Order: sequence, then C-alpha cells, then structure tokens
Amino acid sequence: MILKEQHLMDDTELAYFENNTQMTPEVADALIENQITQFTLPEGLALNFKINQRDCIIPMVTEEPSVIAAASHAAKVFSEEGFTSKTNIIGMIGQIILPDVCQPEEIIDKLKANEETIKQTAALAHPSIVKRGGGLQNIDYRTISDSETGMVFVTLHLIIDTKDAMGANIVNTILEGVKPLIESLTMMTPLMSILSNFNTTSCVTATCQVKIEKLPNKSAFSNLELAERIVAADRYAKLDPYRAATHNKGIMNGIDAVIIATGNDPRAVEAGIHAYASRNGQYQGLTSWTIKDDMLKGEITLPLALGTVGGAISVLPHAKANLNLMQVTHADELAEIIAAVGLAQNFAALKALVSEGIQKGHMSLHASSLAIQVGAVGEEIERLTEQLKTAEKMNRQVALEMLARIRK
Ligand code: NDP
Repeated sequence: MILKEQHLMDDTELAYFENNTQMTPEVADALIENQITQFTLPEGLALNFKINQRDCIIPMVTEEPSVIAAASHAAKVFSEEGFTSKTNIIGMIGQIILPDVCQPEEIIDKLKANEETIKQTAALAHPSIVKRGGGLQNIDYRTISDSETGMVFVTLHLIIDTKDAMGANIVNTILEGVKPLIESLTMMTPLMSILSNFNTTSCVTATCQVKIEKLPNKSAFSNLELAERIVAADRYAKLDPYRAATHNKGIMNGIDAVIIATGNDPRAVEAGIHAYASRNGQYQGLTSWTIKDDMLKGEITLPLALGTVGGAISVLPHAKANLNLMQVTHADELAEIIAAVGLAQNFAALKALVSEGIQKGHMSLHASSLAIQVGAVGEEIERLTEQLKTAEKMNRQVALEMLARIRK
C-alpha cells in the first residue's frame, strides 16, 4: 500500500504482489523446457539507499537470511552522502575465434582493412539495434598462442552496444551475420563465434564514504581501530584467494538478489564478475577500502552486462514491476544500483567480521527458518524463534526440544 501511495507501484502491480500471482503456465512453458511447476523464493526490500543523490528502494530475491538486513544497515551508515555510481559502458564483447593461424599479422591487417564492410554487415544483421542507436562500435584483435600445441589463434572482439538489453542474443545474431564475411576475408573457418561474459567494456564503479567518528560501533574497538580493521580485511582479500572467494561471495549475496528480482541472468553476471576478480593473474577481492583524513572510503568496480528489456525481463511481470519499483528504465541505471548494493553488502560483512563476527546476527535471523525446519507451524514459529534467539546454543536438537516444550 505504502509503495502505491508513493507511486512506486500501480494497481496491477500491487494486485500482482498482494495475490502473489504465479506466472501463467504459457509464460513458464515459453521460458524453459520440460516445465512441471514453479519454484518460489521470498522477495524483500532493501531500504535506506541513496544512490547518485536519489533515494532508492531495492527489491531483493534471496533465500538467505540477513542479506537484506545487512544491505539496509550498510546503506544507512552511508546515507548522509549516499553512494556515487558511474558506468563506463561501451558495449558487450562478441568473440570470433580463428584457430591455427599461420600469419596472424597478415590476417589482422586484412581484417583491419575491411572494417567498414564488417560494420555494414553487422548493421544488416541486426538493423533494429542500430535504429536504437546501438550496434557494432569497434573491433579489437588479439593473438593468443597455445604453448602446449604451438597453435596460434586470432580472435576478433566485436564491441557491440546493445543499449538497454543485456544483449547476448543481439551479439550472437550479429556474430552469426558477420561470420561468413570473416570466412571469405580470411579463407578460414572460425572455431566459434559467441559473446564473452568477461565484459570488461561494460564496467561500473560505485563509491561511498563515511566519517570514521560516525561509524556505528558496538565492539570493543575504537572507531578508528574498526575502520583500520576493515581496511586490513579488504587488503587481505587481495592477497589470499581462499579469503577472496568468501569476500566476493558476500558481495554477490546482494548482487544476485537484485539480478534475480529484475529477471536478469545471474550466471552471466557471476561468470563476468569472477573472471574480473582474476584479471591480475590471481583471484582477488573486488572492493577497495581506504582511510583518508577522517573518512573511511569504499570503492568497487564490476563488469555488469544487464538489461531492463529482453530475455526473461520482458516476459516476467514480476521483473518489470521490480524495475518500476526502483524507478529504473535504463540498463546503466540498474548497473549503478547493483554496484552500490554490492559495495554496501561488503561493508556490512567486513564490519561484522572484524568486530563481533557474523554468526551472532546471522544465527539470530536464521532462527525463524530453523523453527520451520523442525516443524513449527502457525504461532509456534514466532514463539520458537524468540526462544531460539535467547538460547545459548542454536541448533536442530535445541530447537526440537524447545518445540516439544511449547507443545506440552
Ligand atoms: P533479447 O533477444 O530478448 O533481445 C532484446 C530485444 O529487446 C532486442 O533485440 C530489441 O528488439 C528489444 N528492445 C526493446 N527495447 C530495447 C532497448 N531500449 N534496447 C535494446 N533492445 C531493446 O535479449 P538479449 O539479446 O538481451 O539476450 C539476453 C538473453 O540471452 C538472456 O535471457 C540470457 O540469459 C540469454 N543468453 C545468455 C548467454 C550468455 O550470457 N553467455 C548466451 C545466450 C543467451 P527490437 O529492437 O527488435 O525491438
């Protein structure tokens, strides 16, 4: 209701949310093969976010307790200045891979000399994206040698602006359209042509800062010590891949939740982000926290190829309603929000980890799902949850014993 009053939802969307409407069997059947039923996940709202000077409510779909609470908490910490988020999106990368190339320089020179024809062919392969102001922007060339077999590959990177679509199908259609021309120019058969999910040409950077004296802090550490510990933890995630994987998993807690809520492709985003985390030759944490003067500053840069149209987004009414809720119409606006969510999620995790640890807050939020797991129903769920929160140990055995006592 509040969301409708604030014009973040129309009547249809409100009815859709209130009635928890499933997609129609036709839509479900159109999306996947061998469809038998639908699988639901809870959706919640992350609050307190101010991104690029705009207040923003962020729908998140996740099965994990504490994710939304942590994001909202972190957003509040940075609410004075909010998050600044900026995209640097040139386009998606489509690869055409030529194997077993004997004279790579000659092949590249030939392709370079025919770039104008390649661009014209690309435009003919997908005229509607050109009409929208997108399409093939430029071409990069890479030579890659396999030291084991001695084989040399020449790979073309077609940088394609897909506007507000994530663009996988657009890119693949253009690549297929251009492939015969590449074959005739090089007299070679490409090994394959497919988009790359390591989309370094679609990056977004989010930053935030807070005065160290304003850090909420219930720990035994001083505020400055807490900030220094956050910086040290961030630095450590650059050094140790074992820690970096978990550091980045925490970031993805928030990112995936918004990706799913908006009908985007979480596998594509995950693949791109983890490849980006390894771009320096070692898998590293994606954030950077520093102290300057009396401020704690955070920054994250991520490759994010997202859509506000196309794929499942245009089919799922829920995804469209969630984009409306965020008041987002363009893909770059969505990327800006998602990068800020990732940074907020990381701050919440680091702050908890270097002070009281995450388990206290996490387990307290886990109590209600544990109550359901052991069979509590109706009012029992709330009673058991409350008892579990104050218990010395929270596990299945304890929960079962408590439930038995409630039922006596
Ligand atoms: P679509 O094939 O649905 O293409 C989007 C279409 O939306 C465009 O062709 C365009 O058609 C239309 N459109 C309307 N408004 C706009 C706008 N403002 N900007 C751009 N396009 C607009 O989806 P994508 O090409 O985005 O592909 C995404 C899907 O591909 C996802 O489902 C993903 O899971 C899947 N996929 C992912 C792969 C990967 O990541 N490796 C591989 C293969 C598929 P028109 O101009 O004609 O109106």
